[in-house]
Amino acid sequence: MSINNIKEIDKAYVANTYARFPVAWVKGEGAEITDDGGKKYIDLTSGIAVNTFGVADAEWVKAVTDQLSKLQHSSNLYYTEPCALLAKALCEKSGMKKVFFANSGAEANEGAIKAARRRSFVKKGAGHHTIITLKNSFHGRTITTLAATGQDVFHKEFDPFTEGFVYAEAGNADELRSLTEQYNCAAIMIELIQGEGGINVLTQEYVDEVRKIAEEKDLLIIVDEVQTGNGRTGKYFAYMHYGFTPDIVTTAKGLGGGLPIGAVLLGEKAEDALVPGTHASTFGGNPICAAGALNVVNRLDEKFLKGVEERSKFIIDELSGAKGVNGISGMGLMLGIDCQRPVKEVIADAMDKGVLCITAKTKLRLLPPLNISFDELKTAVAVLKEVLAK
Ligand SMILES: *Cc1c(COP(=O)(O)O)cnc(C)c1O
Repeated sequence: MSINNIKEIDKAYVANTYARFPVAWVKGEGAEITDDGGKKYIDLTSGIAVNTFGVADAEWVKAVTDQLSKLQHSSNLYYTEPCALLAKALCEKSGMKKVFFANSGAEANEGAIKAARRRSFVKKGAGHHTIITLKNSFHGRTITTLAATGQDVFHKEFDPFTEGFVYAEAGNADELRSLTEQYNCAAIMIELIQGEGGINVLTQEYVDEVRKIAEEKDLLIIVDEVQTGNGRTGKYFAYMHYGFTPDIVTTAKGLGGGLPIGAVLLGEKAEDALVPGTHASTFGGNPICAAGALNVVNRLDEKFLKGVEERSKFIIDELSGAKGVNGISGMGLMLGIDCQRPVKEVIADAMDKGVLCITAKTKLRLLPPLNISFDELKTAVAVLKEVLAK
């Protein structure tokens, strides 16, 4: 089917929530992706940090299809091996104690919010439920995770939102402390690199202050690693750059390598926060998604992550100081380019020349597959340099 046919049907029948680029993808291989007309592109988006090894990675496909031909689903009334092994692998990578599986980032964050609130209820009694999040954050699209999202633009038209969220300016520890004194709090929830908010990296000093405040007030620290997790920043989780282990970590996007899965990782203080009957998900820990995710987690070893850092360094070295570039933020293969040209024009020109990237607020956001070849990266970066300089 041609793009025009697909577009027509999509416009007629798919809910009108997305402004799509005028292209339809058919297939791919690694970082290369092919449209309906046969044009090939180098993909620096990975489906928004999801396709960890790019498209149709052979080893990942085998892990998924082997499981698919055995058992696709069983419900959480029973045990399955992929779910158990994935939880073990995630705990071993992260130093966390227990995992609850969900199906998306928003749902993982809902689980984390429930765990933090229940832990607070059991420990401190009713009413200590406020969760402090950061301005400019993004935590999801459900009513509760929108409430958690610290951007006013998201707090319109869907009232009433879930109560119990207040927002602190990232980097301002005094404001954070004062909010913990004004409200009876359960937790502080942060992204270490705000993704949708514009690839804003929290400083070590600020994170140290957040930890100090949380310790003093007995608040849990929830780190939203939906986008930053699973090798994206060059370590398994972004918190590993900051030298601490959070109380709760949420992740999704790259975990499944392209299949929908989310996870709430519970540390020592939160491992018993959820008990039977308090939380559940029909699809959570689904054997196929878990088998795909297990392949992702097992392959992200030290050597692989070093490769992420090398690719990151290559991009930063090539683009910093390049014509049309004001600056670069981010870590690993989650980078934001502050460009002189309007970012939408840069993206359109790059797409014309066969390179895909997306925005993060006003920045150009690069999220290539973590194993993109250096040849592809060189070609893509040359195109970016050309269109950024225009
Ligand atoms: C994408 C994202 C979410 C939402 O994930 P969904 O899978 O779309 O629900 C939440 N938090 C962060 C940091 C994200 O980047």
